[in-house]
Amino acid sequence: VTKRFKIRKGFRSSELVAVNDVSFSIQPGQTVALVGESGSGKSTIAKMILRLEQPTLGSIKIDGIDSREGGMRNYRRLVQMVFQDPFASLNPYHSIGHHIERPLRLHKKVSSKQETRERVAELLQRVNLDPDMADRRPHELSGGQRQRVAIARALAPGARYLIADEPVSMLDVSIRLSVLNLLARLQREENLGVLYITHDLATARHFSDEIMVMYKGDVVERGASDDVILNPQHEYTKTLLDAAP
Ligand code: ATP
Ligand code: MG
Repeated sequence: VTKRFKIRKGFRSSELVAVNDVSFSIQPGQTVALVGESGSGKSTIAKMILRLEQPTLGSIKIDGIDSREGGMRNYRRLVQMVFQDPFASLNPYHSIGHHIERPLRLHKKVSSKQETRERVAELLQRVNLDPDMADRRPHELSGGQRQRVAIARALAPGARYLIADEPVSMLDVSIRLSVLNLLARLQREENLGVLYITHDLATARHFSDEIMVMYKGDVVERGASDDVILNPQHEYTKTLLDAAP
C-alpha cells in the first residue's frame, strides 16, 4: 500500500463535514476514478493529498512519506495534479517553457541550461506539442494545448502519482477524448497511480480500473469499473447511473 487515508475534513466556516472518515489507497499503475455529485468532497480529497488543505483528523501517506512531515519537496515530487481549468493554473506572464522548467529545477532534474532546454522540448513532445511552443505564453495556445502543457508540467518532477480533477470538463467536447487518451498513455508509460475525478461515468468506466463513488463526504462504494457500472451496490450509485445520459 502506497497511499493510505483514514481522514476527515471539516471546514471551520461551515457545519458540514466535507470528507468523513474516508480511507483508501492507490497503487502505482492503477487508475481509480472518483465520482459523485457536486459538493460530495472529491476536490477536498485532492486538495488534502496535495497539502493545500490539512485533514482535521487522520493522515495521508505517499510511499511512506506522511503529508504532515516537513520537507515539502520530497512529498510534492511524488504527487502532481492536473486541474480542471488549465488557464487558471498557468501564469499568463510566464512562457510555456518557464512553466515546465520550474519543476525541473526545483526537483534537480537538470544541471545545465542546455539540458533544461532539451528536457523541456522532450516533455512538450511527449504531450504532442511542438517544442517551439516553449517560447509562447498561455494565451497564445488553445484550451486543449494549455491542458497538455499542464500535463507536461505534472510529468516534469518524475511523479509516481497523478491527480486529475475533471481534467477535460472545461475543454471542447471534440478534444476531450484525445486529452484523456494522452493521460492514459502516459499513465501506462510511467506506471503512474492516477486518481481521476470526474462527473462522466462513461470515461470513468473506460479509463479506470476501479470506480470509487462518493456521497455526502463518504466513499459509499468501490469496485472494478465494470462491476460498479453493471452491478451497483449502493442506492446512491444506482441513482447516479439512472441519471447518467
Ligand atoms: P464538484 O463536483 O462540484 O467539484 P466536489 O465533490 O469536488 O464538487 P468539494 O469541492 O470537495 O466538492 O466540496 C465539498 C464541500 O466542502 C462543499 O460543500 C464545499 O462548499 C465545501 N468546501 C470546500 N472547500 C471549502 C473551504 N475552503 N471552506 C469551506 N468550505 C469548503
Ligand atoms: Mg470538485
